[in-house]
Amino acid sequence: MSVMKIEIDNDIYNVVIERKRSTKNTYIRVKENLDIYVTCNTLTSDRYIINLINDNEKRIIKMINVVRKRKAKEEYFFYLGKRYDLVYINKKGITFGEEKVFVSNDFDLDKWYKKEAEKVFQIELDKIYHNFTYRIPYPSLTIRKMKTRWGVCNVKTHKVTLNLELIKKRIECLDYVIVHELSHLLYANHSKNFWNVVGENYQDYKKIRKELKQDE
Ligand SMILES: [Zn+2]
Repeated sequence: MSVMKIEIDNDIYNVVIERKRSTKNTYIRVKENLDIYVTCNTLTSDRYIINLINDNEKRIIKMINVVRKRKAKEEYFFYLGKRYDLVYINKKGITFGEEKVFVSNDFDLDKWYKKEAEKVFQIELDKIYHNFTYRIPYPSLTIRKMKTRWGVCNVKTHKVTLNLELIKKRIECLDYVIVHELSHLLYANHSKNFWNVVGENYQDYKKIRKELKQDE
């Protein structure tokens, strides 16, 4: 592996070159840390690579902008209702500070959220289930990202599905959604009886409903 510097659009970038005997063509990628990553054959010269990058400058600027935009969106890190600044560093994994969260460039945030959610959601579900004011069947739990709903309850199979995004909100939101879905095991609709059960098990539910609607 060798590294060169190159100027594109008034910025200096690292060009990381990986030469392999098995690689026939030359491939250019832009990494999450904005390094330009070139894979090519052992015989490919630095001069050839520089010319190739210059010839494809427009396309590479586009690739850089895609990564930049994605990173700007992920400027903040949310976990159980707290907002942290998201900082990319060279150390592997994830480290929590008081106001900041440090992650490596290749860190898979969604995978981490999923792992955390599997722990936290199950604990909350069990707690709420055991304190529930009615006898209901014990539901199985599924977690996935959903676009339009915080939770879904399959009344027939007793399966509760919770939106992974709830891991970013304060735990009261998660608890409300669990109460809501468990109440569906008694009433499959949103009738007055249904809301009575919700209210019995979660007093402040009207406030939380507003909060969850606001950022939908
Ligand atoms: Zn509902």
